[in-house]
Amino acid sequence: MGLEKLFHASVEKNPQRLAVVFGEQRVTYQRLQEIINSYAAYLEKNTQAQDGIMILAQNSIEQIALILACFETGRIACPVNWRMSALELAGVMNRGYFQLGIYDGQCELLYADAENLAERQLPAAKLEALPRNDPRSGHQAEQPEDWYAVRYFTSGSTGVPKSVLHNHRSLMSYARTYSEVSGWTPEDIYETQSNLFHLSGFSCIISLFVGGTLVLMDRFREEEFFGAMERERCTRISLVPTLISRCLSSGAFQKYDFSSVKKIVYGGSPLPMAQVQKTLAVCHCALEQAYGTTETCNISVLSGADHERAVAGQIGEKILQSVGKPIPGVEVRILNEEGVPIDNGIGEVAVKSPFLLSKVEGNIPKGFDRDGFYMTGDIGHFDENGYLYLIDRKNDMIVSGGENIYPREVENCLAHMVNDISTSAVIGVPDPVWGQRVVAFVVRYPNSTISEQDVIDFCREHIASYKKPREVIFLDRLPMNANRKACRPALREMYARWHKEQDQQQENL
Ligand code: AMP
Repeated sequence: MGLEKLFHASVEKNPQRLAVVFGEQRVTYQRLQEIINSYAAYLEKNTQAQDGIMILAQNSIEQIALILACFETGRIACPVNWRMSALELAGVMNRGYFQLGIYDGQCELLYADAENLAERQLPAAKLEALPRNDPRSGHQAEQPEDWYAVRYFTSGSTGVPKSVLHNHRSLMSYARTYSEVSGWTPEDIYETQSNLFHLSGFSCIISLFVGGTLVLMDRFREEEFFGAMERERCTRISLVPTLISRCLSSGAFQKYDFSSVKKIVYGGSPLPMAQVQKTLAVCHCALEQAYGTTETCNISVLSGADHERAVAGQIGEKILQSVGKPIPGVEVRILNEEGVPIDNGIGEVAVKSPFLLSKVEGNIPKGFDRDGFYMTGDIGHFDENGYLYLIDRKNDMIVSGGENIYPREVENCLAHMVNDISTSAVIGVPDPVWGQRVVAFVVRYPNSTISEQDVIDFCREHIASYKKPREVIFLDRLPMNANRKACRPALREMYARWHKEQDQQQENL
């Protein structure tokens, strides 16, 4: 049996329950199953089992139905990032992963441009034109659990993205374990704008497996998001840390009625401790953090109770800076530089779990250790109570004058300038004397007047002097990847470009 059975169970239990709300559209479980059946009939007519179905579409009920129709028919759902350029998309299309391309009206032009650039053309169809009311006939075989269900592309910012395949078994196990850990019930009304092309968007599908209602957005617009939250009486909302920061600075958390909300779930990148405290103080609901990667699904959770205990002083406040404890069934190890597991100390986070990827393709920066643990590329450590802390990405470490500096340490320090700095990102750039030097990109609050020197002085006071930024660049906003994480590679590129231009100007003088 495969993922489709988890959805069937929800339909059978409560066919009239509202499954998805998307803007003005609302579908019950029964109606969603009808659309899925119709799409499934189309897929069965036009493709083979285990074919890859490329889906280039913004969040919608139709996209959810198409992904579930892939599960029903043993096709591999391959939702791709619509923020990619046509050239990047063409690169992905050339890989030979897909046998059918489906695009929606909003991505039609992008699809056509990519198709023109690609070396191979796919049979393609428009999502809105797929039949929605065709019956599905014939015997429906159960999907073997080791069949692939989804191919995700990781949120890299440069080059051709790497793709990760998950099979039915891994995602079923993930859906069951995570919903249990998170206390997700059929009564929950879950609101999110997570993109369906990313693993975080799999939470939309989990909501349907649980039998709850999903309130889906295609992007974050404050008024619309919180308007829907109030109207639908959402109980569980997901927000990434950059959006939480934005809501804290715009006053949105005070402006809207959070009385129905039991829990805000966040993750994907760290949320500075000061912002965790501020959010808890104004929202009066639980906060829950998850740490995961596309390859591993969620690894650990910092529960609502953990947040509460930390704020109430029952447990050290520092756990608010952790990513919590590994979830049941997930083994986490810390590896030293030789790849050997260590009991204490800092090293690379490696993971073995029932919901590990089945296969990875493309340029592989990460791999498995000799015991089959997946190396995440994150540097971290455990504390004496079993809480896991992430320090930074292994590849983002800065070496300046022979000292190791993790950009996140500097960013965490900057986050303490709570009245002036809304967000920041730190990178290392080549330096003729020090090897690398620290550069901070900072977004100030509109009424802040802090200078470069103020920022440097603040860091000198609060962290080791060699870690302080040598240069501070103020920006209106940081470049973000599709998952709204500050994109350090884009900043490195931007910085290199500026310097090349400056050098050119000098030469021309
Ligand atoms: P991706 O595979 O694109 O989803 O990115 C996964 C990476 O995001 C991880 O390896 C971490 O570096 C980062 N990440 C995910 N969740 C968290 C979290 N809760 N706190 C800090 N970093 C996180």
